[in-house]
Order: sequence, then C-alpha cells, then structure tokens
Amino acid sequence: MSEKKKKIEKRRKDADLFKVVDSTIDPRTYLLLQDIARKLRIDYYLGAISSGKEAKVYPAKTYDGNFYAVKIYYVSTSASKKAIQKYTFGDKRFENIKASNTKKLISIWARKEFKNLSILYESGVNVPKPILVQEHILVMNFIGENGVRAPLLKELPDEEITKDMYEEILSQIDLMVNKAKLVHGDLSEYNIIVYDKIYIIDVSQSISIESENAPELLRRDIENINRFFESKGIEVNDTEEILKRFNII
Ligand code: ADP
Ligand code: MN
Repeated sequence: MSEKKKKIEKRRKDADLFKVVDSTIDPRTYLLLQDIARKLRIDYYLGAISSGKEAKVYPAKTYDGNFYAVKIYYVSTSASKKAIQKYTFGDKRFENIKASNTKKLISIWARKEFKNLSILYESGVNVPKPILVQEHILVMNFIGENGVRAPLLKELPDEEITKDMYEEILSQIDLMVNKAKLVHGDLSEYNIIVYDKIYIIDVSQSISIESENAPELLRRDIENINRFFESKGIEVNDTEEILKRFNII
C-alpha cells in the first residue's frame, strides 16, 4: 500500500472507531480513546450504555470479538469535587496527592476506582476485571453478552430475585470487608449486575475499613440491600446481626 493510501486508510479507521460515540467526547478524550484502542486492540466503541452524574460507560469491541466496558469520568462539577475531597480525605493511599485542579481530581477519582477494583479482584470479590486506567478513563471487563450489558439487580423481574442471591451478596460484602478491607460505600440494587453470578460495580468511592466513616457507610450498604430484598418479600437478616457475623463493629 502506498503511503498516501495508508494515510487515507488510517483516517478512515480513526473515523470508524468513534462513529457511534456521541458528540460529548472532547478532543482530549478522543485522543486518549484512540491511544487506548491501539493498546488494547479495540476495533470500535459502541454507544453509551449509561450516563450518570459522574461518568459514562461505553462498550468497546476488540478485533478478537471480546468486549470491554470503558468508563469515562466527566470533568468534575463542584459537587463531585467536594465528594472526592470528602472520600479521599484521611485515606492514606491518596494523602500525597495535592489535588489542586479539577482535571487532576477527576483522574484521581478514576485511579481510585481502578485501585479499588484491583484490590477487590485480587481478593476474590466478584467485580469486573480491571484492565487499565489512563487519566480520566477506566477500562474493565464487560459483564454481558455481545456488547449488551447484563441487567442490574434493580432491573430483574421479581420472580428471579431469590434468597440465594441475597446470601451471595452478603458473602460478597463479607469478602470485601474481611479480605479486601474495603467498604463499598454506595452499595444498592443499582450497583450490582446479575449475570452468571452477581457482580459488584461502581467502587470509586469505596474506602478502607480503617476510615472514620467506614462503619457508618457499611451499615448503610447493608441496610440498602436489606431494604431491597425485603421489598421483594424475601426474609432478611437483622443488620446488627450481619455486622456481628462479619466480625465488625
Ligand atoms: P455511575 O453509576 O457512576 O454512572 P457505574 O460504574 O455504576 O457508574 O456504571 C454505570 C452503568 O454502566 C451501570 O449501571 C451498568 O449498567 C453499566 N456498567 C458499568 N460497568 C459495567 C461492566 N463492567 N460491564 C457491563 N456494564 C457495566
Ligand atoms: Mn452506579
């Protein structure tokens, strides 16, 4: 192929890579996504499967036909800036980072989620496998089939919600706390994916069990799960008993 043809071919490929991604992607993010595509052999990115307050998640398809979930954090609003400072304050792993500007803060946030995912994954907690983090973009394994995400616990039909599932979630919390030494901090039916088993997601705000507010957050996590299963007519254990059983508090 001639140099000119190669160039045209490359330009075509670059355009293809983002054909389906929405226009909210800024130039800096666009370049990062290109770089990540090269590193991970990504053929193209699909349209966003979610757009929350802090991030958007996109499936990405590799040349081998595998899928990744690509979580892109927004350049932070002042509200999330405050939340970040609240959660990273007193966290030894982040105390050396003097986060002075927003761009840096949002990268710290992405890095924090990547670090938490890695700890959890290595501790045997069911979380998506972390793949890489680059500035404000985090890549992890995709939970679902052919780029179609598996449902959240929240989205399951009532008849598929079982006591076994409840017990499975409790044992995942036990692993998180007693092996990974982390409290999720935002656990609910919105941050659990149900596929071949249950997966815990969205761990950017997770904190060390040593943190001052860890007991309070853990109690709230368990109460959220209890409230959800109770509303589906499933008998749940007493929150205080669960905390005792886990040897905490
Ligand atoms: P946030 O709630 O901050 O927007 P989440 O990490 O909860 O971010 O992700 C948003 C949504 O993206 C989830 O509710 C889920 O539907 C989907 N999602 C997140 N991670 C994955 C993953 N690894 N595989 C498949 N879908 C995912
Ligand atoms: Mn979430």
